Amino acid sequence: MTHATDLPRLAERAGRDLEDADPLDILSWAAETFGPRFCVTSSMEDAVVAHLASRVIPGVDVVFLDTGYHFPETIGTRDAVAAVLDVNVITLTPRQTVAEQDAEYGPKLHDRDPDLCCALRKVKPLEEGLTAYDAWATGLRRDESPTRAGTPVVGWDARRRKVKVSPIARWTQDDVDTYITEHAVLTNPLLMDGYTSVGCAPCTRRVLAGEDARAGRWAGFGKTECGLH
Ligand code: SF4
Repeated sequence: MTHATDLPRLAERAGRDLEDADPLDILSWAAETFGPRFCVTSSMEDAVVAHLASRVIPGVDVVFLDTGYHFPETIGTRDAVAAVLDVNVITLTPRQTVAEQDAEYGPKLHDRDPDLCCALRKVKPLEEGLTAYDAWATGLRRDESPTRAGTPVVGWDARRRKVKVSPIARWTQDDVDTYITEHAVLTNPLLMDGYTSVGCAPCTRRVLAGEDARAGRWAGFGKTECGLH
């Protein structure tokens, strides 16, 4: 069993050793190293990482953050993933409902202070939900945006003090599309409707030709990430 104080060093070494490894081997390493203290997180944009993980870690925890602002298609994708894959979907929710938040902060906080809204509805609930784990997997990819270009396949998440595993960090959009086709992986129906990145409904729009995949998130704000990464 790995001692908690060793985790940053272990993460850095694994990031180097596994840089060229197949995503399935990266996930196998995480399962062997962390056992039940490893989970996959999913925004339910697609089920690629959940599908990969289910192949090497049947019954793995897949953590989904229900902000209360999701598109119905996203909730439907979560339910389909729970029904179809050999995974244990865990839904995290913020402390306040949208109505309670509106009562305390005023309506449409996302239009006035998206950083605070994300902190309350995403960052805090995920931090609390991850206390049960030493390591978590994400679907981050280097080609998604300049801010994600340096994503390691395994790294140390100093803020949460967890090992962060990004098994498809080196994959391109073509790699993802090929995997989805070959394995008939569940995807959010909005990806077929002009959206290339799916987040909360008030903060997501369709992208235009020539924009990067995440341009439709918080359009009009100088914000590119919700604070989870
Ligand atoms: Fe709020 Fe928008 Fe962040 Fe969702 S993405 S938590 S609605 S600011």
